[in-house]
Amino acid sequence: MKVTAAVFESVGKPMRVEELDLEDPKEGEVLVKLAASGLCHSDYHVVKGEWSSEGPVVLGHEGAGVVEKVGPGVTNVAVGDHVVLSWVPYCGVCTYCNSGRPALCPKVVETAYQNVMFDGTSRLSRDGQAVPSYLATGAFADHVVVRESSAIPVRKDAPLDKAALVGCAVATGVGAVINTAGVQPGDTVLVIGCGGVGLSVIMGATLVSAGQIIAVDVNEGSLERARSLGATAVINPRQTDLAEAVRELVGEAGVDWAFEAIGLKPTVETAYELIRPGGTAVVVGQAAEGVTIEIDPMVMSDREKSLIGSNYGSCHPALDFPRLVDLYMQGKLDLDRLVGRTVSIHDINESFAAMGKGDGGRTVITY
Ligand SMILES: [Zn+2]
Ligand SMILES: [Zn+2]
Repeated sequence: MKVTAAVFESVGKPMRVEELDLEDPKEGEVLVKLAASGLCHSDYHVVKGEWSSEGPVVLGHEGAGVVEKVGPGVTNVAVGDHVVLSWVPYCGVCTYCNSGRPALCPKVVETAYQNVMFDGTSRLSRDGQAVPSYLATGAFADHVVVRESSAIPVRKDAPLDKAALVGCAVATGVGAVINTAGVQPGDTVLVIGCGGVGLSVIMGATLVSAGQIIAVDVNEGSLERARSLGATAVINPRQTDLAEAVRELVGEAGVDWAFEAIGLKPTVETAYELIRPGGTAVVVGQAAEGVTIEIDPMVMSDREKSLIGSNYGSCHPALDFPRLVDLYMQGKLDLDRLVGRTVSIHDINESFAAMGKGDGGRTVITY
């Protein structure tokens, strides 16, 4: 079938919205008609050349839609189901999958991270030449073929333009709080970076009744949105000394938890610096290739300060996505406030150009 997709060729060249050919789903695969897809920083890393990804490729990995066709052997979804896309097409049988950590499944690295399906090929093509789908998802298109473990059924009464955000920003941010960290009621939480993921960390911290939730960003609009989602204090480090301001709020020792949601060396190091003895800094942000950090190991052992990573909010999509959508429908997770602009796929280049300058609200493409 013919589909409309935004094709990335190379850094500095605008994506072009084109008609591509999409093959039918093969064994264990699903064809989804997308209703919406979100613009994520992980796409932006490729657009800016911070992550090498050779074009042509259809970017996008956060989306939701309706199943139109299923390939042979598919059992978890049926035609007509509403699904949220997951960018971890896990195998379901390895040690990681069996221990409930599908984001660490080797199959994800072998396939999604190479932008190919389980058989090593792509379903999209242009004039007979394969066009890979980013993270085996390629959500900047009106239709996608994904692995069945990447199509997670959710309730049909949930608006798909909000449900789409569950597939990356919300699963990553809320999951980091609940699954990776296990923040307890009353714990103090620092969140550095208030984009889609950082704002989702704030929503997660609010959901578990964290104590002080301190949001940090250089953009006033993002801080305002952070407040509306539950931040109890906001700090703009361009105007105030961050360390001083945090210690004034929670005491000299520092916070229980610091979440870094940008992926920069100085902010990861600051997150670590601002946790109390016995506290934990969680790296949620995805750094550009080649970034390294410096941490004093003596502080680490002597003060028992931990630095841990969180990929995809340590989530199990099949378990967590429906729950997160339920929480939204119950009014406990305010995804309406997470959405910034709603645009057409034809606005994709200017929408990426505006990323980082906006107010942290997620830009969503609707089809
Ligand atoms: Zn993402
Ligand atoms: Zn696996």
